[in-house]
Amino acid sequence: MRIELVNTGDELLLGDTINTNAAWIGQRIAALGLMVARQTIVSDGPVIKDAIAEAAARSDVVLVSGGLGPTNDDLTRESAAEILGLPLVQDPGITAHLEAFFAKRNRVMVASNLRQAMVPAGALVLDNPWGTAPGLYFPAELSHACGWNAHIFLLPGPPRELKPMMENLVEPRLRELLPDGASRRVLYLKITGVGESDIVEKVEKKLEAVPGLTLGYCIRQGDVDVRLSGQSEPVETGAAIVREHLGPCIVSEDRRMIEEVLVQTLADRGQWLSTAESCTGGFMASRITDVSGASRVFGHGIVTYANEAKQRHLGVSAQLLEQHGAVSEPVAAAMAEGVLAVSGADHALAITGIAGPTGGSEDKPVGTVFIGLASKGSATVVRRFFYPGSRDRFKLLSSQAALEMLRRRLFELPLA
Ligand code: AMP
Ligand code: MG
Repeated sequence: MRIELVNTGDELLLGDTINTNAAWIGQRIAALGLMVARQTIVSDGPVIKDAIAEAAARSDVVLVSGGLGPTNDDLTRESAAEILGLPLVQDPGITAHLEAFFAKRNRVMVASNLRQAMVPAGALVLDNPWGTAPGLYFPAELSHACGWNAHIFLLPGPPRELKPMMENLVEPRLRELLPDGASRRVLYLKITGVGESDIVEKVEKKLEAVPGLTLGYCIRQGDVDVRLSGQSEPVETGAAIVREHLGPCIVSEDRRMIEEVLVQTLADRGQWLSTAESCTGGFMASRITDVSGASRVFGHGIVTYANEAKQRHLGVSAQLLEQHGAVSEPVAAAMAEGVLAVSGADHALAITGIAGPTGGSEDKPVGTVFIGLASKGSATVVRRFFYPGSRDRFKLLSSQAALEMLRRRLFELPLA
C-alpha cells in the first residue's frame, strides 16, 4: 500500500513551525508495518490542489494536514472538492457541532466558521472533538472519475487535533484497507553496546532469508532499533534470530529506552541508584530523571567536576587523585564507592573522562572515559571507553555505556 503525505502551511516552509505532524504520522504508519512513500510540504494556496492531485495519481492513500480552518488561506477542503469535481454541501451535523462549540465557550460564531461545515458530496466527516475543523475522508471511489484509486484523508493542522483523529478514525480505516491489516505486526528490538556493522554482520543475512519479513534499522547515537515487520510468524522467526545472536545486547522489545528499563527494573526490585558525574555534568542523572517514576529509585545524583568536589562530596583521596589523575580507573572506582556510601543506594554509577577538545594527553587522549559501577555486596568494576568527537556525543555515549553496565549487572549478563 503506497501512502503519501501532504503537509500544508506557509509556516512550515518559513521554518516558523516544525513539521512535527510528518514525523509523528511517519511513526504511526511505521507501527502499521508500512512506510510513508513520499512527503510534500506546500504553501497555503492553489499549489495544494497540485500536490493532492499528484499524490493521489500515484498512491493508494493520501494524508493531508492543515488548511481546514476558517481563514481565507485555509483552502484544503475546497481544493480537494475541486480536483475531485464534488459540490460542497452544508452539513447539519457539523453546523450543530460548531454552534455548540462556540456557545460552550461564550464566543460568537462568525460566517467564515460556517465554511467548516461545508462537506464535499460523498465525503465522510471525521469528527474533531478538540477543535472546530472536522476532518474529511474521500473513499477511493470518489477519485475514480479522475482515473485514480486513492483514499484521501484531510486532517487538521494542530497536532492536538490531528493526533486523536489519526489514531481513532484514520488508522482503523487503514487497517481495513490492508489485505492482512489486522494481523500485521511490527517489533522493535532495541540494541545497545554493539556497532551497526556488527549487527549487520551477525543477523542481516539470516533475517533477509526469512520469507515475508521486512527488515529496517533506526540508528541513533547509543543504540540501534532493529525493526521487524510482517505477519506474526515471520516476525517471531526474525525476533528469535536476533535474540539468539544478539540476546545480551537487547535492551527492550517495546521501544523503551535503557533508562526506562532501568528505572522500571529497579522499582520492581525496590532498589536505589545514585550517580556521581564529572565530565558528563549531570547528563546521566538528567536521562534517569526524564523517566516518570524515577523518584522511586533515584535519590542522589552528584556532579563533582573539580577535584576538590570529588574529595569533599565523595571522599576520593587527594593521594589517589595526585597519583593517578582524576581521569583514571581508581578514581572512577572511588567515585562510585563514594556516592554509594554517601547515598546508601544499592547501586552507584560514576563517570570521569576527558570530553575535549582540550585536556587530552598521549595515554589519555580526548574522548577517554572511565566508568565505575559499585553495588552493595558486589565487587566494584571499572571499564574504559573512548568516545572522541563533540561534547554532546561524548556525554550521550558515556552515559549510555554507564547505564548499560548497570543493566548488565541487574540482568546478570556478562560485562562487555
Ligand atoms: P492549519 O490547520 O493549517 O490552520 O494549522 C493550524 C496550526 O497547526 C498551525 O498554525 C501550526 O501551529 C499547526 N500546524 C499545522 N501544520 C503542522 C505540521 N505539519 N506540524 C506541526 N504543526 C502544524
Ligand atoms: Mg494552515
